[in-house]
Amino acid sequence: MKQVLKFGGSSVANADNIRKVLDIVRARLDRGQAIVVVSALGGITDTLLRCGDQAASGSEAFRDTLAIVEDRHMQTVKSLLPVSQQSGTLSLVKKHCNDLEDICNGVFLLGELSARTRDRIVSYGELLSSRIIAAAFHAHGLNATWADARELIRTSADFGHATVQFDTTGQQIRNWAGDTREDVSVLPGFIASEGKGATTTLGRGGSDYTAAIFAAALDVQILEIWTDVSGMMTADPRWVSNVRIIPSISYQEAMELSHFGAKVIYPPTIQPVMSRNIPVWVKNTFAPDDPGTVIENRNNPQHEIVRGISSINNIALLSLEGSGMVGVPGFSKRLFEALAQGQINVILITQGSSGHQRPHVRNPRTKWC
Ligand code: ASP
Ligand code: MG
Repeated sequence: MKQVLKFGGSSVANADNIRKVLDIVRARLDRGQAIVVVSALGGITDTLLRCGDQAASGSEAFRDTLAIVEDRHMQTVKSLLPVSQQSGTLSLVKKHCNDLEDICNGVFLLGELSARTRDRIVSYGELLSSRIIAAAFHAHGLNATWADARELIRTSADFGHATVQFDTTGQQIRNWAGDTREDVSVLPGFIASEGKGATTTLGRGGSDYTAAIFAAALDVQILEIWTDVSGMMTADPRWVSNVRIIPSISYQEAMELSHFGAKVIYPPTIQPVMSRNIPVWVKNTFAPDDPGTVIENRNNPQHEIVRGISSINNIALLSLEGSGMVGVPGFSKRLFEALAQGQINVILITQGSSGHQRPHVRNPRTKWC
């Protein structure tokens, strides 16, 4: 395998966009075999989560939500594949949707939705999209196959945000790649499995991470993350008018920017590729000739000290002060313990030199994005 290409939800949102993806992949095959990792069709992950929540709360509305999911995929197949080649994929979509309905019915009857079952439900987004895209590639003349990322990526059983077990995963991926002859392998992003075989997920936005896991396991030369913007920007364009695309950025800087609000790339993505020095290109499916951003190992010359500015909303700043704390051990412990018990995620800590002012923390109930 020579390259890993990942296409996000907006890049595969509908048949027209998937045709663009097809052209991009085709144009890259002269570089060698490709692994194509895909997200769910844009918006489907949220719809599936809503469906599970509706079922768990006893609302029959989950049936309508499921119908939307089914219809969207059926329509995509119908406009993407020639009529003569639709039936296999249509029945596959139907089968997946029936299974999904059975699971949601179970949730509805029990009035209970565990993190394990939620992962199972949400996995259908990537399962469906990857199956449809693999069939479309095949129908349009690419020598393409589909593979199940759940059989290759092994994780812990922390449903919703599983931890990857890199040794087993790397071995499984390399064995699989050694046996794969097709030019293109299409795989679902975001999903994996734990030791007993149950489906797990890698956290919201986790398809980028899937792509990086494959790239690192196979030590490929190129990883491309295809999205709907032409690269990482110097600031958030919703707040700043004169933003620019960053042509090149170091792994460390990209990690910092993505952790602190830049949504272009899922933060854990950088780590597996950084240790192997694999460059990550952020490219725009809707403007494929734009150069994009390359994330790579590079020195930051002195005159480019600030690469970009990012921001996070809904942060709480907490100051704990008082002269009674000066020189008294145990205050920090008590504060952090209380925060940890409340599931509060701390993103920044500062302390006055005299020790009488304690940490700053972020508000836990707000979404990390
Ligand atoms: N579909 C998943 C999500 O929306 C994963 C991804 O797209 O990266 O979070
Ligand atoms: Mg994403």
